[in-house]
Amino acid sequence: MLFSDLKLSTNILKAVKDEGYEKPTPVQAEAIPAILDGRDILAGAQTGTGKTAGFMLPTLQLLAKTPPAKQKRRIRALILTPTRELASQVGESVKTYGKYLSLKSTVVFGGVGINPQIAALKNGVDILIATPGRLLDHAGQQTIDLSAVEIFILDEADRMLDMGFIKDIRKVIALLPKKRQNLLFSATYSDEIKTLANSLLKNPAEIEVARRNTSSELVKQSVILVDCKRKSALLGQLIAKNRWEQVLVFTRTKHGANKLSEYLQKCKISSAAIHGNKSQAARTKALDDFKKGVVKVLVATDIAARGIDIDALPHVVNFELPNIPEDYVHRIGRTGRAGCEGEALSLVCVDEAEYLRAIEKLIKKELEKRIIEGFEPDPNIKAEPIQRGGSRSANKGERGTNTAGQRDRGRQNTKNRDKKSADRGGRR
Ligand code: AMP
Repeated sequence: MLFSDLKLSTNILKAVKDEGYEKPTPVQAEAIPAILDGRDILAGAQTGTGKTAGFMLPTLQLLAKTPPAKQKRRIRALILTPTRELASQVGESVKTYGKYLSLKSTVVFGGVGINPQIAALKNGVDILIATPGRLLDHAGQQTIDLSAVEIFILDEADRMLDMGFIKDIRKVIALLPKKRQNLLFSATYSDEIKTLANSLLKNPAEIEVARRNTSSELVKQSVILVDCKRKSALLGQLIAKNRWEQVLVFTRTKHGANKLSEYLQKCKISSAAIHGNKSQAARTKALDDFKKGVVKVLVATDIAARGIDIDALPHVVNFELPNIPEDYVHRIGRTGRAGCEGEALSLVCVDEAEYLRAIEKLIKKELEKRIIEGFEPDPNIKAEPIQRGGSRSANKGERGTNTAGQRDRGRQNTKNRDKKSADRGGRR
């Protein structure tokens, strides 16, 4: 199939061609015709599948069909995203794919001043991209009018629910007109997502795209077994020895991200940490520096890295395995994109055996395991349960006593904290 088979207008096809896309990805091939037909969509597609263009191209086309009212533009498409980074990237995609159209858009998220957003909204936009917390702030201050929304898009809905946004999402939906088209994109289908989908979508076209990176031959996945306290030294050595120039490294916690980044800097490896406690300006700068190659290593937590869109990222390292197996798939989805080969390496210590098993079960594949000379795991070290801090020393007093339930509660707390700092907490 070609883009020209999708009944997209010449102005949109031209913009797609400028991006160098040759043919639609599977999610685009399925979603674009259904959205153009005016149908609701339930799409199982993660980052890296081309999902953004999958909803953005037909949305632009539908909006461009009816020119904005003469008096003032009103918001006709609303896109909700879980994080600021993703909101920015979706905002960029409107500019990219809509560059030959005369539609206007703006992005609103927390952690930055609200006044420029109010001014942009006052001028009138056709498309609004927002994180839920800041959107509700605008609604509370009556600086936003959602009564003309025709298309409502929930991007990365599973992540939004993970971050505790369900109430906010429902509040936003209550502000929308009853008659509208709804598009829900989610990488995974939990019961909660199904409940949301059932209440939101009317007779949706269901689109399920293969998890690109679990099946992709382009991502070489492997595990290095190493003791917890030697991971930093091993990572430093791997980066230096292999002369890696651009590495995205994941840690479970913000503190862990800072600590590792500081360690790498001490080893003269340029590095920056990105997580929910950093200001928006610091996060944007770290990401820009990483993209430009000013810093070689970006150390990130899952939530901060969500939606980071860097084409052809060659190396992703799981410094610590995620406690949610789906996050592994999201993490490695940052490499092996756009036809380029990528490597996803996980440094795994004895404590993480359970997480590794859960990941292998999810991706239905046993990962290759290696040991690096000089970094052989000490067979006398026994596994300790991982609490939310993920740090051995922090848990000394609770050695072997905390249960999976306690861990899950810890996980929830971490998520709630991250949610706050990712969206509402950063409000000024
Ligand atoms: P997404 O899944 O929306 O995060 O998109 C992942 C990446 O794929 C982005 O960098 C897009 O620019 C790129 N992309 C989207 N559609 C296509 C396509 N049809 N062909 C090649 N690359 C694409």
